[in-house]
Amino acid sequence: MIKLDFHPAGRHFLQIPGPSPVPDRILRAMSYPTIDHRGPEFGALGLRVLEGIRKIFKTTQPVVIYPASGTGAWEAALVNTLSPGDAVLMFETGQFATLWKKLADNLGLAPEFLGLPGDQGWRHGVQPGMIEARLRADTGHLIKAVCVVHNETSTGATSDIAAVRRAIDAAGHPALLMVDTISGLGCADYRHDEWGVDVTVSGSQKGLMLPPGISFNVASEKALAASKHARMPRSFWGWTEILEMNRTGYWPYTPNTNLLYGLSEAIDMILDEGLDNVFARHARLGEACRRAVRAWGLEIQCAEPACYSPVLTGVIMPEGIDADVVRKIIYERFDMSLGTGLGKVKGRMFRIGHLGDCNDLTLMATLAGCEMGLRLAGVALAASGLPPAMEYLASQPGGRLA
Ligand SMILES: *Cc1c(COP(=O)(O)O)cnc(C)c1O
Repeated sequence: MIKLDFHPAGRHFLQIPGPSPVPDRILRAMSYPTIDHRGPEFGALGLRVLEGIRKIFKTTQPVVIYPASGTGAWEAALVNTLSPGDAVLMFETGQFATLWKKLADNLGLAPEFLGLPGDQGWRHGVQPGMIEARLRADTGHLIKAVCVVHNETSTGATSDIAAVRRAIDAAGHPALLMVDTISGLGCADYRHDEWGVDVTVSGSQKGLMLPPGISFNVASEKALAASKHARMPRSFWGWTEILEMNRTGYWPYTPNTNLLYGLSEAIDMILDEGLDNVFARHARLGEACRRAVRAWGLEIQCAEPACYSPVLTGVIMPEGIDADVVRKIIYERFDMSLGTGLGKVKGRMFRIGHLGDCNDLTLMATLAGCEMGLRLAGVALAASGLPPAMEYLASQPGGRLA
């Protein structure tokens, strides 16, 4: 039997790019009693989170909250707006884009996977110019949706969503724009309304600092209109009934009450810190992390500086080093979890998460653990990465009084 109380002293360092560490404040809120989901107190909680979460998405549209992981919200976005066999244009940025495409295939849609040649797709963000060219060629408007991942968690590339919107508009194409910001929300700026996104998909266990188990859809007026004549079968995921019940703070079925207590707390924490401060903190941690990786003499998975992710950094291993062996050493010696390489980059790289409930010293400890582990694994480092990271962090405004 595996023991689940195996952390001997201090905190486990959960530096994977989600689930991210859950703050004590949120864990405490989640320990409130599970109440009647048809009772008066629940309605007040429901209305509170449904209202508050709109500020995080920067939307005046209603937000749909599902008791499901992010994958469920991916499916919900597609089945609410599309019809069997519809052509969907998706962009290959990494493993999560690949999984969303596979889901579209499984549903009986006709996804087309656009991407940069060779392994370049997994080292860059979405290329709006390629999307514009493809849409211009689709003179019959057969493509019904363009689906992109805002923050590609498998590689550490954050794409310019406003530029994708401009590309669709420049092509004069009516396709819906659907965006996965499952790991971007609450870490990198995101503007559902201003960027003209039709369906936004997100989840709880990344920037929102909650355990896994809830996910979101935000629909534009255009997407809500499309849902009226979309013919994909749907029941659990259907927006109409949920939005109707949500008016009074309830759901058609049993929502996950305790996670909603946590969501309410998370919204307060993020808005108290201020969204812009949250984004600045993530940007600062990302930059410090990349300075350390460069000092080590190692390569960063994202090769496009404009797309560097504030959420995580992918670190490519030198030839002959298995990234998962390095991760195992770090886990066993220093009680820290790092993200594994997914899909095409399995064993070639690992991912350092610096999202959610993380500060400057969390990052420094994380980098120290990585550096010790890399040396123990026999990776020849050019220099210590800690001094440049420390110098950068100390030179930036930040901390409690920022
Ligand atoms: C985590 C993640 C997902 C998958 O979400 P689940 O909660 O594991 O279903 C999808 N897309 C991105 C970008 C993610 O980071």
